Amino acid sequence: MERIRIHILFTNRHGSGVRSQAQAWHSSSLPWNGSRPCTKHNRCGFQSKQSVKRECYNAKFTYSQRRSAFVAALAISLETPFNLTMTVSSWQRRIQRAEELAREHPFAREMLGYYAHVASYQQDLNRRLANGLPGESRSTFHAELSANEVETLSSRFESFLSVAEAHGPKSLGELSRELRTRGKSFCSELLQHVWIAPSFSDAQGLLALAFLQPYAELLRSRAPAHPARSALALCPFCNRKPGLGVLRQMGDGGARSMICSFCLAEWEFRRIVCPGCGGEDDKKLSVFTASEFDYIRVECCDACKTYIKSVDLTKNGRAEPLVDELASAPLDLWAREHGYAKLQNNLLGM
Ligand SMILES: [Zn+2]
Ligand SMILES: [Zn+2]
Repeated sequence: MERIRIHILFTNRHGSGVRSQAQAWHSSSLPWNGSRPCTKHNRCGFQSKQSVKRECYNAKFTYSQRRSAFVAALAISLETPFNLTMTVSSWQRRIQRAEELAREHPFAREMLGYYAHVASYQQDLNRRLANGLPGESRSTFHAELSANEVETLSSRFESFLSVAEAHGPKSLGELSRELRTRGKSFCSELLQHVWIAPSFSDAQGLLALAFLQPYAELLRSRAPAHPARSALALCPFCNRKPGLGVLRQMGDGGARSMICSFCLAEWEFRRIVCPGCGGEDDKKLSVFTASEFDYIRVECCDACKTYIKSVDLTKNGRAEPLVDELASAPLDLWAREHGYAKLQNNLLGM
């Protein structure tokens, strides 16, 4: 009987990487049928195959995360007889959450369905670019894309526009179709323009931003670690505005951090500070919540009249901040009706 040890690295909902280890014994002569409950942790409800013993690190993972990781581990164990490390894709978590929220909130079904297709495309693009542009790394995101980067990216942009055309809302579909007719040189210029611009809110720019995002994430993953604490309201990697905030459990309360609207870096940010103007006057900083999204805070500043939404993971550990922010569009409408402008629109233009 062959013994295989598989290491699975995935991120829990508090953002820290936790290594889980599944030890599998298998032989191709043994049938992969029958099942028994996890004997180590009754509450995880996991059903494992008879011919596999496993240990699960009983951290704060959802059942679906544990299941995904273990199923992936089993699949790999059949083919790869040596130690390996894998990451449960952040895109997979976002897609699963988008599907979950679409079921809970019918009004958001169309945009979350579109987002799930975008995230699926982004995941694939990230993997392709990791292979297609293996040597590219940069100490700063501010520099223009190289000729090699522009060539590689623009050659794939059309396929992204096809996804937006097929699955996006009607207006976005029409825009994507029109952009596809403009030709490669137009698309190259658009991508370059969006890459170096500090922010975008128009539909064309947001489409390009959604396409470039997996590359920005890839470069960030190759960049040196940024300081753990930053007082900046701009991303320490790409200098863009944050798209949302997150509250994570810290001691008895929640610590706030910002998530970049482009490369999705996360950095700590004080709770009583406006990320728009840096104002610290708590009389001008208000927080609103609504019963339907009681774990999402609308943080408004009466000094600069901007707002940002923060996802409170201490209240809802199932939330996937990026996706829950998209799904809570009614809060954006509420904030705008009350005279606040969003610090940075999300990929869906909200
Ligand atoms: Zn960034
Ligand atoms: Zn402000």
